[in-house]
Amino acid sequence: MRVLGIEGTAWCASAALYDAETDAVLIESDPYEPDSGGIHPREAAEHMSEAIPEVVDAVLTAAEAEHGPDAIDAVAFSKGPGLGPCLRTVGTAARALAGTLDVPLVGVNHMVAHLEIGRHQSGFENPVCLNASGANAHLLGYHDGRYRVLGETMDAGVGNAIDKFTRHVGWDHPGGPKVEAAAAEAAAERDANGELVDLPYVVKGMDFSFSGISSAANDASDDEVLIGEICFSLQEHVFAMLTEVSERALSLTGADELVLGGGVAQNDRLREMLATMCAARGADFHAPESRFLRDNAGMIAVLGAKMAAAGDTVPIADSAIDPKFRPDQVPVRWRDGDAS
Ligand code: ATP
Repeated sequence: MRVLGIEGTAWCASAALYDAETDAVLIESDPYEPDSGGIHPREAAEHMSEAIPEVVDAVLTAAEAEHGPDAIDAVAFSKGPGLGPCLRTVGTAARALAGTLDVPLVGVNHMVAHLEIGRHQSGFENPVCLNASGANAHLLGYHDGRYRVLGETMDAGVGNAIDKFTRHVGWDHPGGPKVEAAAAEAAAERDANGELVDLPYVVKGMDFSFSGISSAANDASDDEVLIGEICFSLQEHVFAMLTEVSERALSLTGADELVLGGGVAQNDRLREMLATMCAARGADFHAPESRFLRDNAGMIAVLGAKMAAAGDTVPIADSAIDPKFRPDQVPVRWRDGDAS
């Protein structure tokens, strides 16, 4: 089966071809890069409507050049969660394409796709999944036909919390990679036992909060604390919170596998902390390569293929987007007998 996936929940217009027989994934992406500040929803939507036709055309042309006019067996699209105007462009493109090609349509939950790509690649049977993305942060575990939310942010998404600080200090979007670079530079120069900048560390069971930490980091920069020191401390706090709740989830569920997903998962320090924690308790850890971590249509196409194989397709009339689509709303039909 070959599936064309379309993704565009916020900033990245992306299309992909997934060939289930060879497990090959071709991804074309066109990110929205704001001139200044963060993601402006109207500009993101305008970017989406210009870029989606181009990335879809590029993937479709490549697919038909290699496999002929019947290259595509199904079209999968991100149905939510995300920005409504962006999702509407994606949904419209997917419906039009599925209708034109006369193939089934699959509506994919973007957050479930962020974790299923890690499960697919690692071959893990039943992992706990940490989604560390821009607008979200949550821990998922599979139980009784659904991905259950074991814990989540009580306010900001993890990437958004970091980006809020970088906007305050005048850095371009996305802020995460710049914080990572500044923190690594500071780490190389600082005393290993040196004090951290005092920032709030808020974990309640398996839930956590990031909104106070952005404000405290902003205040520290106004007080002229060295930026590198703030970046280092911000990462240590935020990633320690995520590591603590992940360990608690592993402990409470008895799982011995952890997969990581989402754009913030590109951060080496976060991966290092999680890998160290997993090694200490004898659990396996998997983080996909970068192109599958940030928003990308590859993960949509891969999960779309599993859903289509399980008969989980939607008639066009029932294919409305859902900006608040939660992972635990998805009946998981593709895992039965699925070892991947
Ligand atoms: P969601 O998937 O929740 O809709 P999103 O659409 O914002 O989120 P993602 O691609 O998952 O997109 O994540 C983007 C976020 O990842 C941004 O906030 C960005 O700053 C952050 N990010 C990217 N690279 C790094 C990095 N190396 N370290 C920390 N954060 C990073």
